[in-house]
Amino acid sequence: MFRDAIGHGTDLGRQVKPIMERGELVPDDLVMKLVEQRLARPDCAHGFVFDGFPRTIGQASQLDGILARRGFGKPLVIDLAVSSDKLMRRLTGRRMCSVGGEIYNVYDAPPKSDGKCDVDGGDLIQRADDRPEVVTERLAAYERLTRPLTDYYQRQGVLETVDAGASVEEVGRALREVLKGVKS
Ligand SMILES: [Zn+2]
Repeated sequence: MFRDAIGHGTDLGRQVKPIMERGELVPDDLVMKLVEQRLARPDCAHGFVFDGFPRTIGQASQLDGILARRGFGKPLVIDLAVSSDKLMRRLTGRRMCSVGGEIYNVYDAPPKSDGKCDVDGGDLIQRADDRPEVVTERLAAYERLTRPLTDYYQRQGVLETVDAGASVEEVGRALREVLKGVKS
């Protein structure tokens, strides 16, 4: 969404650009303005999915306000629960093709030849924020800022937990099971 706003040169995009270029966290009030503008677009009229958002109690409570103002119902919140050992392995093992963006994992889904993409032979790179020391920091920030959201949404009765430590197929099946119960 940030990249989209920057690309379109909107007011918010111009405010967000220098912050992102410095590698800093975009403040909640700007994030929430961007979210509210995005939700006003026609393709969101019948619902939408956030991935990895909200990340803080502050964002979640502001999001509740936006949903109420815009006449949306209660959200369905899915906690994809994975042990930190598994997360470490998934994130630090992740490699991305520098040409086509294909994703590999050196432990669980390695390319046929070391460091090269199966599809186009592009070099595989590790994202800066997937380095072990950065992942450790990301997980600590998650525990501190984001973990409290499970209680927050549990109290609202909208939280579903899916064991995301399982295989892609099993997680997919569990997610479809959860979504079956939702009409719109
Ligand atoms: Zn590739």
